Amino acid sequence: MFSGLAEQLRKREQQGLLRRRRILESPQASRVAIDGCDYLAFCSNDYLGLANDPRLIEAACVGAKRYGVGAGASHLINGHSAAHHDLEQVLAAFTGFPQALLFSTGYMANIGVVTALVGREDAVFADKLNHASLNDAVLLSRTRFIRYAHNDMAALARRLASTDARRKLVISDAVFSMEGDIAPISELLALCQQYQAVLLLDDAHGFGVLGKQGRGSLSQVADNRAYHAPNLVYMATLGKAAGVFGAFVAAQPEVIETLIQSAHSYIYTTATPPLLAQALLTSLHVIENEEWRRDTLQRHIAQLKQGVQSLPWPLLPSVTPIQPLLIGDSKEAVRVSERLRERGILVPAIRPPTVPQGTARLRISLSAVHRPEDIQQLIEALHQSAAA
Ligand SMILES: *Cc1c(COP(=O)(O)O)cnc(C)c1O
Repeated sequence: MFSGLAEQLRKREQQGLLRRRRILESPQASRVAIDGCDYLAFCSNDYLGLANDPRLIEAACVGAKRYGVGAGASHLINGHSAAHHDLEQVLAAFTGFPQALLFSTGYMANIGVVTALVGREDAVFADKLNHASLNDAVLLSRTRFIRYAHNDMAALARRLASTDARRKLVISDAVFSMEGDIAPISELLALCQQYQAVLLLDDAHGFGVLGKQGRGSLSQVADNRAYHAPNLVYMATLGKAAGVFGAFVAAQPEVIETLIQSAHSYIYTTATPPLLAQALLTSLHVIENEEWRRDTLQRHIAQLKQGVQSLPWPLLPSVTPIQPLLIGDSKEAVRVSERLRERGILVPAIRPPTVPQGTARLRISLSAVHRPEDIQQLIEALHQSAAA
């Protein structure tokens, strides 16, 4: 019955594309235990090093004692706890939007927003390098799907000018997850205003990391226009820099109410455990007040850039903790990743179809809990791998 599947899997293995899971035996941290060995890791999205912070763990325990371990119901039945509600209010205030709504994951938030806001008569305009969850969301919404070249605002303008769609939704990652570069947010906003389109900005990798107090990519937009744009829907995740789990959407009240009424990925699913919301309240406090974590990240980025200058492979231009080293050939990327692993360092090789053909890379991700010695160790191992 499943012989077709077995055949596909064999092919995948022959092409060196079979993915395997490593079993993590420690908390997420700069050093992790996997299969009985210790590694220095540059893989996680835990950019601020909060996933294993004792204050967040304590808050989660307080949350468990107060609410138990499971929400027991969806938000619209009776799973919407005071902790969820408080967190939504804190997130709205923190991001500068009138309202925010929690989702279980970023994947589900994107599915919910796109399917609730657009349908068959509409059109979506999406950056070609957007996250897979955004692309899946568009397919599920059955909306016309128009993709433009990465960050190419002229291409986007042409496509917006030539559409007769009822509603227009422009979608972009704010920080691109495999490149680390930042979308031209001012230009996106201006184009959306000009063509009366809605902008959905996915700030999974900017929230907590970019801007003063970690308020995200929007706080870097020079003229503050972002905060007054009524046509902006902001989404960010809480499982990356925030160190916990979940996601939220922040927008005008009509948008949030529409999501509550009609986003299936919000309605037909169990609310996340309230203890996570309790931990996130503490996480937001840390994000807002511990500027040193972002300063440390910037120093790590500078150190890495300096240290890899003479390698045969370039770093992609990125000012974020996502620092991809462009190798090009998939097999070579896997070989380099493997050589690093033999030296006790984990850096994932990212290959097509996750990234465009011929652009396989090592996705180095930095965290505030790395030490300068860790970055130095990575730099030396990269030089040794290049020479080998
Ligand atoms: C990780 C990620 C998501 C999905 O978020 P989860 O909470 O992990 O489901 C969505 N968009 C982007 C750009 C991401 O990097």
